[in-house]
Amino acid sequence: MASTSASAGALLHHVRTGRARSRAELVALTGASRNTVSARVDELISAGLLQEGGRGGSTGGRPPTLLRFNSGAGCVLAVDLGVTSADVAVTDLSAQILATVGHPIDIADGPDVVLAEVDRLAQKALAEAGLTPADVCAVGVGVPGPVEFSTGRPSHPPIMPGWHDHPIPSAFGRYGCPVFVDNDVNVMALGEMGVGGSAQDVLVVKVGTGIGCGVIVDGEVYRGAQGSAGDIGHIHVPTPDGRTVLCRCGNENCLEALAGGGALLRDALEAGLPVSSTRQVIELAAQGDGPALELVRRAGRMIGTVLAALVNFFNPHRIVMTGGVAQAGAPLLAGIREAVYGRSMPLAARALEISVSDAPDLSGRMGAALMAIEGYLDEDSVHQALAR
Ligand SMILES: [Zn+2]
Repeated sequence: MASTSASAGALLHHVRTGRARSRAELVALTGASRNTVSARVDELISAGLLQEGGRGGSTGGRPPTLLRFNSGAGCVLAVDLGVTSADVAVTDLSAQILATVGHPIDIADGPDVVLAEVDRLAQKALAEAGLTPADVCAVGVGVPGPVEFSTGRPSHPPIMPGWHDHPIPSAFGRYGCPVFVDNDVNVMALGEMGVGGSAQDVLVVKVGTGIGCGVIVDGEVYRGAQGSAGDIGHIHVPTPDGRTVLCRCGNENCLEALAGGGALLRDALEAGLPVSSTRQVIELAAQGDGPALELVRRAGRMIGTVLAALVNFFNPHRIVMTGGVAQAGAPLLAGIREAVYGRSMPLAARALEISVSDAPDLSGRMGAALMAIEGYLDEDSVHQALAR
């Protein structure tokens, strides 16, 4: 017999994620009494969060009235802040994108300049969606650096000069709603889990300029004691040829310094390849250029060496690769698989699935939207909203 929480927020969650479609199914799922469930469902209907519609299949008696989540009850702003670009989407409460606009930025211009641009983009996106600031229920923001999640302030972000301790939520004061800020890797990890998430244990590994890992435990982002869980870019990696590479963190032979986007470009230039950006190295590999392919595969093997250790430690269901370098696809995966399956314990590796994200460009915005929606509709917030 199921005995999960039967709070209004929990009931809403069950309907929203498709786990229950009627009062009867909510009763069966939560073990709460029919009266309790009905009273709370009525509250959610008057608040506009649930709607009744249609009849379900009958199992003998009167067919049940179906319940569905009213994803049009509001909207959220989803902000994906990168080093060189800002993308803002407006989505409904099921993370369906209603409008999205983007513009190049330089994150090093600092919070005042960049957040003013984000504000402009947000207003444009809202106008395109035919909505107003009053419709915004929550804001989700992903940034390319470490963030203290509880306050939404970046903490000594290495590639965001001028942003340390800046209260990012204050830039969204005009919306008068909760604002959630997290690092881009955790946000992308949420985006990869999709609406409703899943109860799986997943590692979402972003390989771009830096290398980071979103750790999903039982469907939820695991942030660790100080919020820096998954910072795998600075794990030490032995090099097959014994060479030593200095990392921007000051240590030697960090994974990022050996297999990140910058490393790939550096090694390609050393090998005399005609490239001037990491993207061009990836493109050469995609065209089947031998030396470029070998560089990407070697990066994959080094990433795989670290992932093999993580697989033994964490035993995930899945590993999803995302970020610019992950767009190399097959050759990168080949290197990663070689190292992971070669070095992981058989029990952990047996059913492990390693894949590349279907939509690496979109997962930042999707994740920011999902972070905002989950925050807005969590049990406590729904309880407070209904009490008003
Ligand atoms: Zn390092």
